[in-house]
Parts: sequence; C-alpha cells; structure tokens
Amino acid sequence: MTGIDNAAHRDAGVATQRVVVVGAGIAGLAAALRMRQAGWEVVVVERAPARRSGGYLVNLHGPGYDAAERLGLLPALAPKDIGFFTSILVHADGREKFAIPAAVAQEAVGSRALSLFRGDLESALYDAVAGFADIRFGTTVRSITDDGEDVGVTLDDGTHLSAGLLVGADGVHSRIRELVFGPEADHLVDLGHMVGAFPLDTVPEHVPDGVGATFIGPRRTAAVMNLGPDRSSAFFTYRCPDPAGDLALGPVSALGRAFGDLGGGVADALRLLEIDPDGAYFDSVGQIVMDRWSRGRVVLVGDAAWCVTVFAGYGAALALDGADRLGAALEAHGDDIPAALDDWEAGLRPEVRKRQALARKGISRFAPPSRAHVRAAELMLRAIQLPGIRHLVHRAIQRANN
Ligand SMILES: Cc1cc2nc3c(=O)[nH]c(=O)nc-3n(C[C@H](O)[C@H](O)[C@H](O)COP(=O)(O)OP(=O)(O)OC[C@H]3O[C@@H](n4cnc5c(N)ncnc54)[C@H](O)[C@@H]3O)c2cc1C
Repeated sequence: MTGIDNAAHRDAGVATQRVVVVGAGIAGLAAALRMRQAGWEVVVVERAPARRSGGYLVNLHGPGYDAAERLGLLPALAPKDIGFFTSILVHADGREKFAIPAAVAQEAVGSRALSLFRGDLESALYDAVAGFADIRFGTTVRSITDDGEDVGVTLDDGTHLSAGLLVGADGVHSRIRELVFGPEADHLVDLGHMVGAFPLDTVPEHVPDGVGATFIGPRRTAAVMNLGPDRSSAFFTYRCPDPAGDLALGPVSALGRAFGDLGGGVADALRLLEIDPDGAYFDSVGQIVMDRWSRGRVVLVGDAAWCVTVFAGYGAALALDGADRLGAALEAHGDDIPAALDDWEAGLRPEVRKRQALARKGISRFAPPSRAHVRAAELMLRAIQLPGIRHLVHRAIQRANN
C-alpha cells in the first residue's frame, strides 16, 4: 500500500488534516474514532498481522463510562455487558471457600458501569472505525521526522506518510515512545509482577456455570470464569523476581511453573492454554511515568503514555477517556495543536496520577505478601457481605471510582 500525500488530498478537497495512529488497541481505536469525529482523516498502523481481540475483563465506570457514552459506543457495548455474576473464592484444589453474591458488586459500582470482555470493547471500537480509517496491519514505524508543521512517518514496509499529528497508542512497550522520548528504561517503573490473560474456547469443566472462581494465595491470584461457550476466560497474576526471564519462558511454561500446583478451573485453563498459547496476553507489570506525553506533533495515549497496570483495573477506561479528551481538546483549539496538547495533558494528569497510585496500593490485593495478608483479605471479603460494613466499603469504592 502506498502513502497518500497530504497536499494532494488537500488539493482534491478530500480531507483536512491527517492523523497517523500507531496501535489498534483500545487507546488507538478510540483515538481514531474521536479524531474522525473531530474532522481528521485517519490512518491506523498496527504491528500485529490481524486484530487482537483477546484479554480478560475490563470495567468501565466513572470517567471511563462517560467517555464510552460520549464516543457513542454504549449501544454496541450494552448488549455485551457481562453484568454481575457470582464470584467464589476457592482453595488450591478448586473447592469453594465462600461465595460473594453478585448483588455485592452491583451495589458497589452502581448502574453507570459496564463489565466487558476486552475483546467485545475492541470489536465495538473496530466496527466503529473500520468504515472510515485506513487500517494497515502487519507493519510498524521505522522513523519519524517532525518539522513543527507536519510529522513524517516512514513505515517498515517503506511507505512514507505525512500527517498533522502522530498518535502513539502502541502500548506499554511503545516504539513511538522509544523513537521520540527515549528508551523504555527511562519511563518504566517495574512493579515486579507478571500478568497473563486469555479467552477459553472450551468451558472450564471445574467452574460452575455463571460463576467466576478466584484463587488468592501468597504472591499470586488466578481467576477463571465460566460464562458459557465463547464467554469464558482466565486471568493470572503473580509476583516475579525476574520478569525478563519469565517473558522469555513464555506463557505456557511461566504460568505452568507459577500455578501448576493448583487444581480445579486453574488446571482446566492451563490445559487449554497449551492448545493456543498465541492467544494469550502475557506481560510484565510496569507503570509508565513521563514528564510530558507529547513532543511537537507526536502525542502518546493509553499504556504508551501512562500505563496504570492491571492492578488499577482501569487501563481500558483511561484509554477511552484519554482518547476522547484528546479529540475534544483538538476540536476546541483548532489549528493550535501545541495549545490543544497542553490543555489535554493538564486536564488528564490528575486522573492518571490517582489511578497509578490506586494501582500501587492494589498490588497486595492481587498478590498478598504473606498467608496472614491472604487471611486478612478473606475476612474483609466475608465482612463486606454484612449490610452495615458493606455500606461503608461501597462508599469508599465509589469515592475511588469517581
Ligand atoms: C490482546 C491483548 C489482551 C489484553 N488483555 C488484558 C487483560 O486481560 N487485562 C489487562 O489488564 N490488560 C490487558 N491488555 C492491556 C489492556 O488492553 C491495556 O492496558 C488498556 O486497554 C490500554 O490499551 P492500549 O491501547 O493503550 O494498549 P494495548 O491494549 O496494549 O494496545 C496496543 C496496541 O498496539 C500494538 N502495537 C504494539 N507495538 C506496536 C508497534 N511497534 N507498532 C504498531 N503497533 C504496535 C499492539 O499490537 C496492540 O494492538 C491486553 C492487551 C492486548 C493487546
């Protein structure tokens, strides 16, 4: 595919400015959608050869839900809402310890909230974008030039694109960040854990229908959900002294080593992983902390700019919110892109700071340091089922969410 010259397009009266969005994940597709709504011509560059629709649950509430609404996604997302299901806490062999009824979670998040498989969010965004965007799979950015007026992007297939703005939405290990802002090591704060998540093509045999079964032990959590065919999924996170070593091992060996002693739904999920290891999302857990999210006509959004990590439970919501606000700021400032980017960043930073701090606090919920911490967390989960205590916990959760 050849690049289209911006000037030629302007002469033909076809489009105003072009934006090149790198990464077709949640942030990239949301940015593509919002930039189109703001009147831009959109090219999306995705390194993977095809769409990446995997993943576990994502929660949209607070500003993330509001952003989904503003982006016009609710009609597509509402039918996919998983809603509230019963969670059971399980022993290492998969036997139930106790159940947390769906009503507890429901009261905590309220009605303006969606719980979705990441793949359903990706699909809603992709369907909204595919009709107008020039989406190029299987390629990435080799080099970038920025003369203050236009940004020039050379892809690794040799294509050259020129654009008014380059949006780097290529995730926590962003190539755009590396090219424009320097090496990953300058921005990554390693939290010393791994995360793995994958859809289950076959229903996990040892998890009852309509139930999410969670094992929480010292330094690790495994959750396996059985919501029927095509609606089942598994999630793992664990403390890891050598993330690079586990990444090199790959998900089958690394998750097998960290969770292979467990039975029940976890053993089912690990067996299914062996059949399709490539469908798994498997990465180290690290936050991205940067002084600036833009330089000239290059801006980062989503995990590339501010990865909050799985421990925040808010990465996709923040990706939507950040992308939506970016489009709104560009719309508000017209041709003054530097002012739009400054304004956007100033508005979003407090939310990102808050979510990153919540994530760091949340580590001990997913990977409690000791058995005593596991027991304390279980006591807390049992206690929130008592009406008086539940009310207090809900107020605290709602304050954090909004
Ligand atoms: C398949 C998948 C499954 C996931 N599952 C979970 C999960 O279960 N739990 C969880 O907490 N988080 C998960 N995540 C991460 C989660 O989606 C993000 O934290 C959040 O949604 C923010 O999204 P993002 O678009 O910024 O980053 P991502 O969702 O990571 O998307 C980045 C996109 O950029 C592409 N990309 C990367 N490098 C390049 C490059 N050099 N050039 C072009 N494109 C590039 C990637 O292929 C990807 O499509 C998953 C991510 C993916 C890609």
